[in-house]
Amino acid sequence: MSSLDEFVALEVPSVIFKDDCGYCFETMYNENESQGHHLDICLNCFQSFCGRHKSLHAKTALQELNAHHDRWLRVQKIKRPEVEGRSEKKLKLEVIEKSDEELYESRWWLLKGSDELTNWNSCQTTSDVAKKAKQILDARSSSFAQASQSWQLEVKPCAHVRDFQLPTKEAPPKSEQACEECDLASNLWLCLHCGKLGCGRQQVGIDGNSHALAHFQEHGSHPLAVKLGSLSNSSADIYCYSCDDEVKFDNFEQWATILSHWGIDLSNKTAQEKTLIEMQVEQNMNWDFQMVDSQGHELRHLPSSKIYGCGLLNLGNSCYMNSVLQAVFNGGLTGWSLDVLADFPHTVVYPSSNLQCQLIKLRNAMKYEPERYPNGIKPTSLKSTVGGSHEEFSSQRQQDAMEFLTFFVDQLDNKIFKSMKTNPNDRIRFSLEDRIQCTRCGGVKYTAQVSEFLQLPMFETEEPLQFEQLIEKHFESEIVEFRCPKCSELTTVEKCSRFETFPDTLIINPSRIKLENWIPIKTNQELIIPGLELEDGNYLEMSNYKASKKGRDREFLLPEDKDTGFRPKEDYVNQLLEMGFTKNAATRALFSTGNDSTEAAMNWLFQHIEDSDVNEPFIVPANAPEVDPNALESLLSMGLDRNVSRKALILNKGDINASVEWVFSHPDDDGVLENPREACVDVKSYGSPDASSAKYQLKAIVCHKGNSVQSGHYVAFIKKPIDGTESWVLYNDEKIVAASDTKNYEEMRKNGYIYFFSKAV
Ligand SMILES: [Zn+2]
Ligand SMILES: [Zn+2]
Ligand SMILES: [Zn+2]
Ligand SMILES: [Zn+2]
Ligand SMILES: [Zn+2]
Ligand SMILES: [Zn+2]
Repeated sequence: MSSLDEFVALEVPSVIFKDDCGYCFETMYNENESQGHHLDICLNCFQSFCGRHKSLHAKTALQELNAHHDRWLRVQKIKRPEVEGRSEKKLKLEVIEKSDEELYESRWWLLKGSDELTNWNSCQTTSDVAKKAKQILDARSSSFAQASQSWQLEVKPCAHVRDFQLPTKEAPPKSEQACEECDLASNLWLCLHCGKLGCGRQQVGIDGNSHALAHFQEHGSHPLAVKLGSLSNSSADIYCYSCDDEVKFDNFEQWATILSHWGIDLSNKTAQEKTLIEMQVEQNMNWDFQMVDSQGHELRHLPSSKIYGCGLLNLGNSCYMNSVLQAVFNGGLTGWSLDVLADFPHTVVYPSSNLQCQLIKLRNAMKYEPERYPNGIKPTSLKSTVGGSHEEFSSQRQQDAMEFLTFFVDQLDNKIFKSMKTNPNDRIRFSLEDRIQCTRCGGVKYTAQVSEFLQLPMFETEEPLQFEQLIEKHFESEIVEFRCPKCSELTTVEKCSRFETFPDTLIINPSRIKLENWIPIKTNQELIIPGLELEDGNYLEMSNYKASKKGRDREFLLPEDKDTGFRPKEDYVNQLLEMGFTKNAATRALFSTGNDSTEAAMNWLFQHIEDSDVNEPFIVPANAPEVDPNALESLLSMGLDRNVSRKALILNKGDINASVEWVFSHPDDDGVLENPREACVDVKSYGSPDASSAKYQLKAIVCHKGNSVQSGHYVAFIKKPIDGTESWVLYNDEKIVAASDTKNYEEMRKNGYIYFFSKAV
């Protein structure tokens, strides 16, 4: 078969990696003829590579697969001069690949090795070869596939949709279209259960007094409402107030019947108002994060360079990821670097979907060759390799930046650094020691745990709050109820927590979200941060919070309590406390749900909140088996051995994920436990115990603007030299600007969400 026949016979996958080179951020897009950007699509594996990295791919494929990946379709796209008036914003909203065709003219060359077989110009458009080339050009790119897929998957029917019953009563005739409470005539939501019209929530640029929500709060059995302005034959915004999520009816006929019951005919409707997702993306793009200074001048733009790195383009609600990546890769974590990964491994044939390769690719772009990307880069393949199958981080929805940071650190630990001698993430780890002292017998007990950040609950004051006040409050000792094993009865203990060791970089996350009547409210309480104003030169001094070893020889330790075999996960307890549950209730819930997630515990609490003993001090039932039966059950349901699962749960203190991992890393274990109490794994020590160096300098801040951490906009401020002077640099997606204006300071004080402090040298 000739090379051309082979080409025509190719099976083309529906999704192709062609957003950028597998090893760098080179693309096929050109603003004009002279730029010369192009990618070569490998016709064996349908990944794309630039001129610099093509040979690396061919070499790897030959070595690992013993296959010659030497046939390429070279593609170049050149902007059509006549196209105007379509803003980037609009394009992102549509997420329609077709626009690519309207905006760019495509050229292609078919190559075998370095020989050109034919090209777009010398080939009839009706020929089989040209048709095949067009098929490859038209195949969806992986980023588009990701985007549209997660946008479609996002909305699902909920239990309320599945159980929905139309009222038997006739619908009352609707005289006018306005909120029945406030006469607002737009942003209207129709209750599907009783037909009541209420206005929606207030959003940027959209009026609303939340009367539809108020209706649900009054009538708990009316969770479903539809936004009238969104209705068309093919679209509808249906919201479930009970699940607090957008939902949909899968059955179109049922949906049409419901609407006609309420007097709405779908056949002549076109959507007039934006859908929720459109609004979310648009909001995200439009947040005005003070790109002007207090005199109204545009902030000074800083070029992509080795000092400032390069900007990260928004992939649609991905600013939470962009700002965390900037803070981590670009100076927030002093000394943290991915140089331990060295260069691209020569054993990975599919770099486009390999996390390690995508991390190296991002590192190279941000650290070693940012000048190549004056307009920023799209971290598409990094997002998909990091987010993987994670329900939230693989979606297009806005996420909590702090949760992403924790997730990112975890992913790198488990997938990349685990097998390495040094783990850059260790720079943020430290050991906290909890000390409790029985107020009756004076006995003490110490427990140590490794942490990666300090989470500080915020409180509100009239005056701006000093950061140190927040920290002081966090480390204050508290009196809690306790079943003392020495006194053998319920007493109280004084509990306090101290640093056993100090990390190189201390990450502090003031939780700006509090629950008021079960509704999360964000506070913009102003925080005075040491070192935020460049001229103040202040440090954050943490040496006062060092665990003291003085007088310990005169203390007596409480005996190990058989009853305290269960240790609820600290993070989960804190999250539940923040939601307003008591510590006892939280512990009880976590015990009953296998210590597995806040969500499971929360659901348990919602079912048991009426129990009379839910807030009583929690004591592990005397006849309780040594492992939680639910946790054991979930391990068994994965097909794991009973004895080994049991042992894993005991060793990992009931943590299901850790237990599963333990089982897989001990395939030959027989499940026999010699001495369960002694067997607990040692806590590796992190950080330095030296309190004299516990002096920290502020390096970076991830800020958040908006009403909830799951919406709004995130940016990063990082300290960098500008013209030789230390200054603040603002990373707002792809934009990098100088930001040491008083207005910027104000943003940082009011909207700071994650603070990165490095040890002063
Ligand atoms: Zn490349
Ligand atoms: Zn290939
Ligand atoms: Zn209203
Ligand atoms: Zn109703
Ligand atoms: Zn629901
Ligand atoms: Zn006691």
